[in-house]
Amino acid sequence: MSYDVIILGGGPAGLTAGIYASRARLTTILVEKAFPGGQLMMCENIENYPGFAGGPGMKLSEAMREQAERFGVQSKIADVEHLDLLGLEKVLYTADKEEIRGKTVILSLGAKPRRLGIPGENEFVGRGVSYCAVCDGAFFKDKRLAVIGGGDTAVEDSVFLTRYASSLHIVHRRDKFRAQRIIQERALTNPVINVQWNSIVREIGGGDTVEHVVLEDVTTSQQTHLPVDGVFILIGHDPNTKMLGGQIKLDDLGYILTDEDMRTNVPGVFAAGDVRHKLLRQIITACADGAIAAAAAEKYIEGSP
Ligand code: NAP
Repeated sequence: MSYDVIILGGGPAGLTAGIYASRARLTTILVEKAFPGGQLMMCENIENYPGFAGGPGMKLSEAMREQAERFGVQSKIADVEHLDLLGLEKVLYTADKEEIRGKTVILSLGAKPRRLGIPGENEFVGRGVSYCAVCDGAFFKDKRLAVIGGGDTAVEDSVFLTRYASSLHIVHRRDKFRAQRIIQERALTNPVINVQWNSIVREIGGGDTVEHVVLEDVTTSQQTHLPVDGVFILIGHDPNTKMLGGQIKLDDLGYILTDEDMRTNVPGVFAAGDVRHKLLRQIITACADGAIAAAAAEKYIEGSP
């Protein structure tokens, strides 16, 4: 079978593309590596998605998934290893040697947590080093934590982690946060949080589990040992575009370049959500991208300009 639309990635962009494509009566399959939801599943509380007054990301994602399936999107869990996007028929090849064929592809591949690449990081993953506060925060009840980063995720998740932590140091490489002002205010007024400005982590050390980090002051190069039981590395994300193998035009950071209707440089291939080069990566912009990508895919299939 050849689908009208193959959606690759089941975060808010992919799920919304699914809702719009299936409502347009296009045969639509959504392919996802694990359970749909993407990074939304890791959000403890969503409070800036209009009409959703607050609640876990999982709840919003579940509602989107049910809505997409109600309109007829077929879901498939598969590990896509490579893709052939350049022909008239697009083909996805899975690790189970299956082929998924379609007229159009919407790439809603999202992004994955960035790594620091310092000694001790790989060694202590799951033994004190984490990339997801919502997933792992509860393991650190009454523990001392360091959170690395100064963006929305690091600062917002630090406030969340104070539910568990006895002390929490945000380690940021500059003297200013990148996070939104409202999020900064909550962290800076929280008595459990202390900020190590102008500091980077050089090394994570310990025995069976994390016991300390080595901090370096970037202005003086002076190093200090900070005793901690856990380290949350929340320094942003990298787009999941490696599997595209040079078929799609990317920006310098690896994000997919599109026009405003989500068309990539390859006819019949669209991109939506965090994987795309854009100013604002939020649930609402991911959903908007997904809706536009589905409409553009429909027009492509109809042969309209
Ligand atoms: P981000 O905005 O890219 O911020 C990454 C942070 O990590 C920056 O402060 C950056 O420092 C720091 N950093 C990057 N590489 C580093 C390194 N190698 N060593 C030390 N520090 C490093 O990423 P994010 O916070 O994950 O947010 C991603 C997107 O999701 C953003 O668009 C954000 O607005 C959105 N988001 C929104 C909300 C919300 O609206 N409530 C919540 C979470 C995320 P510099 O500042 O010096 O570059």
